[in-house]
Amino acid sequence: MLPTHAPARRCFLTPIPQLSSAADLLASAADCLLAGDAANARQLVAEADMPVIAAYTALVTGAVNPLVHWQSAMPSVGDEVERSDQRMPTSSSERAIYVRDGWRCRYCGTRVIDRSMRTRLHRCLPEIARWGARNADKHAALAALSASLDHIVPHSRGGTNDEPNLVTACNACQFGRGQWTLEEVGFFNPRKYPPTLDAWDGLTRLSRLTMTSNDLQ
Ligand SMILES: [Zn+2]
Repeated sequence: MLPTHAPARRCFLTPIPQLSSAADLLASAADCLLAGDAANARQLVAEADMPVIAAYTALVTGAVNPLVHWQSAMPSVGDEVERSDQRMPTSSSERAIYVRDGWRCRYCGTRVIDRSMRTRLHRCLPEIARWGARNADKHAALAALSASLDHIVPHSRGGTNDEPNLVTACNACQFGRGQWTLEEVGFFNPRKYPPTLDAWDGLTRLSRLTMTSNDLQ
């Protein structure tokens, strides 16, 4: 039996304000790198690596907590559901959706960052923009803010890879819903809210960075 829910909500976890602070710090770090100021960039990226963000992410991705993970038991999905063959869209379609959504999670509103820019930052500052195999070895904000796509109607429930069925999601929101529908988890449909479009670019400004510059070593 499905749990009874309070009135519809937008996401499982209320984003903590430090997510927004970290996005600002990373943007300032990107601007420093573009200006050739690697020393300040290092400082800013280090400041964004906040333990409180790692703790927030762990609420979703860590050990099962019934308050957060009641949905970890997957719904029974009938064999009659027709699934589209291709799991995810092309990278250019994916990026177009992020741009459409203003590089923000359409569930909780958190600003997210382009994963290829995350890689770029890691290559510039490997010790500080950490990206190891284990969660503990990942920079807390780079992990929490990595952009991903979420199917509004889950793929396993017949959802397609077409643009109207896909929205930008932060790590916590992407991970949390599993194969449940919006109705089953008591969420509003995020497509009912217009995206927030402003100067936030998901750190894509870093695409202008010259990676071979000695200033970045
Ligand atoms: Zn989110």
